[in-house]
Amino acid sequence: MEPITIIVNVAYIISAILFIYGIRMLGKAETARQGNLVSAIGMLIAVVMTLVHQDVFDNFGMILLGIAIGGGIGYYAAQRVEMTGMPELVALFNGFGGLASLTVGWAEYQRLFETGQSSIFTSIVIFLTVLIGGVTFTGSVLAWGKLSGRFGGGDPFPGSRMLNASLLGIMLICGVMMVLFGGSTAGYALFSAVIILSLIFGYTGVMPIGGGDMPVVVSLLNSLSGLAASAAGFVIGNNVLIVAGCLVGASGLILTVIMCRAMNRTLGSVLMGGFGSTSSGSSGVEGEMKAASIEDAYYVLEAADSVIFVPGYGMAVAQAQHVVRELGEILEANGTEVRYVVHPVAGRMPGHMNVLLAEADVPYEQLVEMEDVNPTMESVDVAIVIGANDVVNPAALTDEGSPIYGMPIIKVHEARTVYALKRGRGKGFSGIVNALFFGENTRMLFGDAKGTLSELVAQFKD
Ligand code: NDP
Repeated sequence: MEPITIIVNVAYIISAILFIYGIRMLGKAETARQGNLVSAIGMLIAVVMTLVHQDVFDNFGMILLGIAIGGGIGYYAAQRVEMTGMPELVALFNGFGGLASLTVGWAEYQRLFETGQSSIFTSIVIFLTVLIGGVTFTGSVLAWGKLSGRFGGGDPFPGSRMLNASLLGIMLICGVMMVLFGGSTAGYALFSAVIILSLIFGYTGVMPIGGGDMPVVVSLLNSLSGLAASAAGFVIGNNVLIVAGCLVGASGLILTVIMCRAMNRTLGSVLMGGFGSTSSGSSGVEGEMKAASIEDAYYVLEAADSVIFVPGYGMAVAQAQHVVRELGEILEANGTEVRYVVHPVAGRMPGHMNVLLAEADVPYEQLVEMEDVNPTMESVDVAIVIGANDVVNPAALTDEGSPIYGMPIIKVHEARTVYALKRGRGKGFSGIVNALFFGENTRMLFGDAKGTLSELVAQFKD
């Protein structure tokens, strides 16, 4: 082995260690930022070593142009994105990852076709690369469109399952034949068919899945983009790409499973589609929502011994995290025990609320687990629900016909008093009415959460 190859492989091992170490650091809010940086340094080492090893300096101008365009778009998008739009951005980036893997597989197939060098192993991995890459690309673009409200859909169209099963079957047959026909013209035609069919399959596979399940689908597509990259690593014989792809594939899959568990769904039921696409009406909820004034809420909070804050997607929309922390500090100074309870699927991505609360410097020790608070909920004086809906919907416990039946929830309805902050009578993400807001012990504080909380803070300061 040449010395340069040894050096490059050692550098790849260092990169892989940095990736793993970085991912590990992402597990805690305190170290997440550094974890991101550590992994990014690992990727920089991998990219530089690959450029050196592949001796691509003849095309360096093109490579720099690619880095400038890609880096520029990435920087611009990341700077502009709102926290609430992060899942969409992740979906789009996954799609680009899939497309990149597809083009790597395509370029390599073209080269082998022209030089007549194809082997069974490379044909198989090229097939897998373009298949997974193509599905990831169109599936992710559609997921981005659905999450951002640009595309509708979500009801399985007649025959959608049959169509998808047939497409998958045809692609596998084309793949087997493509491998058997090797680098011939017939093999090339089959290869082209796989590319086109994979792009169609990404679209028809994601189309029937409802908007409510899109974050799970994005996580699954993220996992697929990793697998496509890993397959591309086998195609071009690049060890670090194989390792990085596997890490993305495995972590994306673990995240998908965690999300499904937190929603009490199976991956199969998510992929079958339909959930979160339609409104299920009032589902028999009776009574009316009782609005309260800021003054009323102030007097109750002023006298409370224990308060829990339950943030949800609305807190992210309102960007109310800083004023939540301010109110929490005021209550604490007033002698109240203050805790924050975060549901695992509150918001639109795992950890969404934790990130916002950390950004606002909410002390970690005040964050408590849902499982720990639920059994003691009856002793909580006031639960303040800030733009959360599905994650506090008691229908998940009582209504067997509800789409969210079985999902663990934060049982704020058992607290002595509940203040629910929301703008109006809007439903939660799953499209169902929440009986909590009609409860005897619930008072609504209508309006944008940030405005309402600011008014409460002002009352305490007066
Ligand atoms: P929901 O999406 O159920 O409800 C959000 C609430 O916020 C609405 O009731 C809305 O009511 C209110 N709201 C919106 N904007 C504001 C504002 N500016 N000020 C005050 N209130 C506002 O939120 P949850 O966090 O409770 O639930 C998350 C949902 O997302 C669950 O169904 C979960 O299964 C799903 N999901 C989450 C994933 C994750 O990883 N986090 C993954 C997959 C799915 P109004 O319009 O009246 O203001």
